[in-house]
Amino acid sequence: MAAGATAAFGSLLSAQSLAQAESRRHSLTELRSHWRSRLRRAPAAPSVAIIGAGIAGLVAAYELRRQGLQPIVFEATGRPGGRIETLRADSWIQEQGESQYCRFQRDRDLYFNSGPARISQGHSRVLHYCRELSVELELIINENKAGYFRVAALAQRGPLRLRQFQASLRGGIAELLAKNLAAGSSQGVIPPAEIPGVLALLAQFGDLGSDLRFTGSSRGGVSEGSDPMHPATPLSPLELRELARMDFFSQYKLHLGEYLDQQASMMQPRHGMDHISQALYQQVADRVLLNCPVTALERRGTGALVRFTRNGQAAAMPFDRVIVATSPLLASRWGRDFSPGVRTALLSHQMSRPAKVAFQSERFWETRDGIYGGVSYTDEDITMLWYPSHAVGSAQGILVGAYHVGAFPGDRFGDLPAAERIRLAQEQGEKIHPGYRRMVSAGISRSWSRAAYFEGGWSMSEPSSLLQQPDGPFLFAGDYLSHMSGWMEGAIASAHGALSQL
Ligand SMILES: Cc1cc2nc3c(=O)[nH]c(=O)nc-3n(C[C@H](O)[C@H](O)[C@H](O)COP(=O)(O)OP(=O)(O)OC[C@H]3O[C@@H](n4cnc5c(N)ncnc54)[C@H](O)[C@@H]3O)c2cc1C
Repeated sequence: MAAGATAAFGSLLSAQSLAQAESRRHSLTELRSHWRSRLRRAPAAPSVAIIGAGIAGLVAAYELRRQGLQPIVFEATGRPGGRIETLRADSWIQEQGESQYCRFQRDRDLYFNSGPARISQGHSRVLHYCRELSVELELIINENKAGYFRVAALAQRGPLRLRQFQASLRGGIAELLAKNLAAGSSQGVIPPAEIPGVLALLAQFGDLGSDLRFTGSSRGGVSEGSDPMHPATPLSPLELRELARMDFFSQYKLHLGEYLDQQASMMQPRHGMDHISQALYQQVADRVLLNCPVTALERRGTGALVRFTRNGQAAAMPFDRVIVATSPLLASRWGRDFSPGVRTALLSHQMSRPAKVAFQSERFWETRDGIYGGVSYTDEDITMLWYPSHAVGSAQGILVGAYHVGAFPGDRFGDLPAAERIRLAQEQGEKIHPGYRRMVSAGISRSWSRAAYFEGGWSMSEPSSLLQQPDGPFLFAGDYLSHMSGWMEGAIASAHGALSQL
């Protein structure tokens, strides 16, 4: 135990100025040289435990190792990666005593990212580690106007394509505004001389006719059977009043691609998201203790004692510093020596309850529906169907048959047993793609609120600045500490933050 070293570390920079320095340092190269110079100035290298081998814990271990330290990572489950989980042929998952075996065919393209599935082009930290560790990336289609939106209020018209909603919405809004402007009711917002310019803009925006009416647009789709040798007939638009009655703006339905983190281009690692966690794990595997749940953290002088179980035996090890990189609620249970404010802050996090279902299937969405990647939406429990963007044109694919984000009060899909979630996914998918039940097979489902050592998807609470500071020997890492909860980028940023305060 290097108590002196700990004290010297703490005195180098105040927590406040460290946090500021961290946010100023955009490049990992600068961060690394900052960590190096702090470590050089310490009288002895600290011993460090990391609790949790999710991406936050793995990044912390990888970076400490690069600095010449030998941290120990305690991981409760039998695999690294945490919420980064990719299921493929022969995978097993457990949830509250229920076991599921993945019956997909053995094929590198047939996998299911049951946790994270997409990387934004703005997530520079994730992309940095992919580049550094040679994780091959490919584009993923997040949004596709050819996808369906099946809404109960319009069920008699069948599932309609997203493009029809989007074009109708733009057209309806543009017409309403244009008519009011043309009638002189700009309410002084637009000077009269500029009104013709704004009307021209609205006509383009909504694809209005010269009479400023919206009567439909090929942007929203054309009638079936149109052939290129004849003019196509645009589908009749949906009325603005009709659109306003539907709930298509909650749960990302029509505007997913507008969010900063969801805008094209998005990426995914080839052959599964776990290529990221595996690449990190390969760098630190000899420092990771799998199947070693931590049961208690106690203060010992200026350091801490980590209590854990290994092969059913209780054990304990002392460390100078402990980086706690698990869910906040779990940490609050065994962190009995955290200060009261820290425990309260950990307990205050409200977690989402997401669940996904996946099926293997022939690629009927490509051959029958002309959908290549992207999402279809429904206002039922399954919320969305997500079509694979990779291996386009091959015979089989893995279709995400439900992605229920579980972020709204009353969302209970994730609380159902897996077999019931799969049954509902078949039933509700059938309403979007007739014949679905017969075409999909090998259903498997992950609910993150029912998974041991997670008990939820991501935090929906504001990050607490208290948890971004050390609590004696304890530091915290995890996406819930960042303003990007629910993103690997936030988890990595939090790990960097913890290292800056070690
Ligand atoms: C359904 C879903 C979809 C998502 N989609 C995306 C996406 O598309 N893109 C994206 O970037 N992010 C996405 N995310 C978020 C992303 O998964 C997380 O931000 C990130 O993986 C969190 O990493 P972490 O290391 O902070 O935590 P975790 O991955 O939760 O790791 C914590 C680790 O601690 C371990 N642990 C728990 N208790 C103990 C104990 N007592 N002892 C030892 N170990 C313990 C756990 O087993 C786990 O391995 C999604 C998450 C979910 C659930």
